[in-house]
Amino acid sequence: MKSNLTENFRQLVVEQKNFFRSNKTKDISFRIEALKKLKTAIKNNEKLLMAALKTDLNKSEFDAYTTEIGIIIAEINFTLRHLQSWVKPEKVKTPLTHIGSTSYIYSEPYGVALIISPWNYPFQLAIAPLIGAIAAGNCAVIKPSELTPKTSELVATLIDDIFPVDYISVVEGDVETSQALLNEKFDYIFFTGSVPVGKIIMEAAAKTLTPVTLELGGKSPCIVHEDANLKIAAKRIAWGKYVNAGQTCVAPDYLYVHHAIKAEFLELLKQAIEELYGKEPLHNPNFTRIVSERHFNRLRCFVKSDKTIIGGGWDEAKLMIEPTVLADITWNDSVMDDEIFGPILPVLEYSTISEVVEGIQNHPNPLALYLFTESDTVQREVLNSISFGGGCVNDTVYHLSSPYLPFGGVGTSGMGAYHGKGSFDTFSHRKSVLMQTTRFDIPFRYPNLKNGLEKIKLFLK
Ligand code: NAD
Repeated sequence: MKSNLTENFRQLVVEQKNFFRSNKTKDISFRIEALKKLKTAIKNNEKLLMAALKTDLNKSEFDAYTTEIGIIIAEINFTLRHLQSWVKPEKVKTPLTHIGSTSYIYSEPYGVALIISPWNYPFQLAIAPLIGAIAAGNCAVIKPSELTPKTSELVATLIDDIFPVDYISVVEGDVETSQALLNEKFDYIFFTGSVPVGKIIMEAAAKTLTPVTLELGGKSPCIVHEDANLKIAAKRIAWGKYVNAGQTCVAPDYLYVHHAIKAEFLELLKQAIEELYGKEPLHNPNFTRIVSERHFNRLRCFVKSDKTIIGGGWDEAKLMIEPTVLADITWNDSVMDDEIFGPILPVLEYSTISEVVEGIQNHPNPLALYLFTESDTVQREVLNSISFGGGCVNDTVYHLSSPYLPFGGVGTSGMGAYHGKGSFDTFSHRKSVLMQTTRFDIPFRYPNLKNGLEKIKLFLK
């Protein structure tokens, strides 16, 4: 659905609420059918999706499949395998004071969910939350990013072809469209995007007390300790940083490298970048471009630095920037002010882990943190001292693709989590119900019981 700025979305939300109230989405076989339809449509549109992602971001077919299409198919398969067990009411214990009754927690859908998504993984981040919304039995409206218009259009067509608009609908448009949607009363809002817009979303949701999940961003550190396996570290960091040209919410934003191994590690990093993207990445047809001129100009300011030790080139016509590494950076450099969200990797040097811990703790909670070390003590110290959304020891980014690990931020990097059962839980309200017997009636709770207080104190002491 193309949005018309004068249009308000009240009618759409009313229609989805009516559909929800018909209880069709509460039927498990309806949800399973919807997920299967979604999977088939994605498979049938695989080539078109790859072409759209190529046009919008110059994504290679390999990246498009691994980071957008394949990851979604795996998530649908996982959900289909487990949904029957997730939907079962959970029987929980009942205390002695409630004798005669049984207790259950029912997972019930919220109703109509609004999903607002960003441009960096424009397909994955619009559809992954939708899988959770459908699995939990909700209706949904998706607002994809306007900065990746081909993918947005294809998502709209694909969804329109398989679902009625009063069940699942895609509204295309920019900030004004997003704000017009936020004026409506949804039952849940799932937002993926930047920290400043996250605050706007939460403010809008507060007006109607609508629950939110905020999947935001920030500066994610990556620590390379002196005892790390440097070759593996270099390869996994180069991959996690430069995939999608660094436009990944969980990409290592900056490196903390121990001074004793810094020179050796940076040489290995240079080799790893070359192995992945060749000697001339600007001529590599498979290297992702920067999404817009505005972002390109913002990033270009950082590569012109005299601190550039790897890369540093760009091509304005193609909106491409080489994988770049900046050395001898401190927290006073402007590249350390905000999330970089591009193929530029600043390197800070350190001597002790407590220095690193302090440096990170003085800044907002990261969305991700990566630590390369063979030492259990260092692992314990870092994991125990620093609060972050999620991350890896001896890897980067990979945690995000495990359906067994709920994915989300903490503090300014977000609230709530999804993927796997986490998605089902996010889009479900857990309704607690006590099933009481009528075969007898325990008198303790009633105030007219003789010596009632003494008796109740035997239980509640
Ligand atoms: P963004 O916040 O600018 O936009 C995200 C969505 O919000 C878009 O659909 C956009 O149209 C809408 N929007 C923008 N301004 C708005 C406003 N004022 N009111 C209402 N809606 C508005 O983010 P982006 O530039 O598309 O994405 C990059 C950011 O997203 C980075 O900070 C990145 O870290 C973060 N991100 C986080 C995750 C995660 O899973 N945590 C994933 C991808 C990206």
